[in-house]
Amino acid sequence: MHKELIEFIRDMYRSDEFLPLHEPRFRGNEKKYLNEAIDSTFVSSIGAFVDRFEGDFASYHGVEKAVACVNGTAALHMALLLADVNQNDEVITQPLTFVATCNAISYQKAHPIFVDVDRDTLGLSPQALEEFLADNAEITAKGCLNKKSGRIIKAVVPMHTFGHPCRIDEIAAICQIWHITLIEDAAEALGSRYKEQPLGTFGDISAFSFNGNKIITTGGGGMIIAKNPDIVKKAKYLTTTAKVPHPYEFTHDEVGYNYRMPNLNAALGCAQLEHLDSYLTSKREVANLYKDFFSDRDETFIDEPEGGKSNFWLNAILLGDDVDRNGFLRRINKQNIMVRPIWALMNKLPMFKNCQSGPLHNAEWLEEKVINLPSSVRLQA
Ligand SMILES: *Cc1c(COP(=O)(O)O)cnc(C)c1O
Repeated sequence: MHKELIEFIRDMYRSDEFLPLHEPRFRGNEKKYLNEAIDSTFVSSIGAFVDRFEGDFASYHGVEKAVACVNGTAALHMALLLADVNQNDEVITQPLTFVATCNAISYQKAHPIFVDVDRDTLGLSPQALEEFLADNAEITAKGCLNKKSGRIIKAVVPMHTFGHPCRIDEIAAICQIWHITLIEDAAEALGSRYKEQPLGTFGDISAFSFNGNKIITTGGGGMIIAKNPDIVKKAKYLTTTAKVPHPYEFTHDEVGYNYRMPNLNAALGCAQLEHLDSYLTSKREVANLYKDFFSDRDETFIDEPEGGKSNFWLNAILLGDDVDRNGFLRRINKQNIMVRPIWALMNKLPMFKNCQSGPLHNAEWLEEKVINLPSSVRLQA
């Protein structure tokens, strides 16, 4: 299989060079808008492109407003702060995620709790969430109390792994019953949908990323959207140093953050967003080619889950076990084709190893089997 796969990937990308997992494409208005931003002298945290990027992003999601941030981690941090997650609060998330999800929880000095994922979505399992809450929590006047720790569970942060939608509607319903704020980590999921609805519009607050390896990029960047317009307003205020509006006076009435996306990055974002639909088409083609390739082989292609429309940000397959996996990683990477395993589970990292967790059988099962394959938008598309 290894040799056929190498040939297949090289043929698909028509390249004999190094093939990364996901590289950005700049073939539209990127340079034009960057030049306009430079010529305007507004390269920093104020400028027309930041406002435009926020507006375009909001319309894409059918929401009123969005708030641009310096990166996805800052967007997540802000989302948790806006959800009133503080020291000694708890936040339920999945162990199978990029470390930024848990780092953001730690920035607020809150405690992650790890609950299992579903095998088909790779995202937080509503069933596991329900079981965890039934076993451990009760609703009190202060909120959802974890009877084991005595702390309040303030938020649930599911993550849409590789752009595949998790069962976000069921998770939202559970959060409502248990009085917990739902924050979507939609960093990988721009352009994905669940039951026709864009991901990031299910949560009370949602965070996106435009890092260089994401489906569209601003170099570094992130975005926040939220259901409650007051939260959106507060997000803008806190990400821009909590400045009291005034034509020239500098007054700040609480500790704010310098989290605003610079205009230069937003210029890139405006140009990239113009390509999103064509990127989604190209990435679906790549996914379908992989799906065909693996249809009569032992390895399983991870397809979009039922009811979901994935952006196929990173394609992934399941190998037999970790021995298979390690051999595969060694051989394919040696051929200058980047393949990588899924993240080590968060509950195994030194800083999170003492956190409470439910049973994590699916996450552990996936951890030793999942491999990502090169998934960039094709040049010829
Ligand atoms: C990329 C990513 C982030 C963080 O985004 P940055 O822009 O790199 O800070 C957060 N969560 C997940 C799941 C991601 O993949």
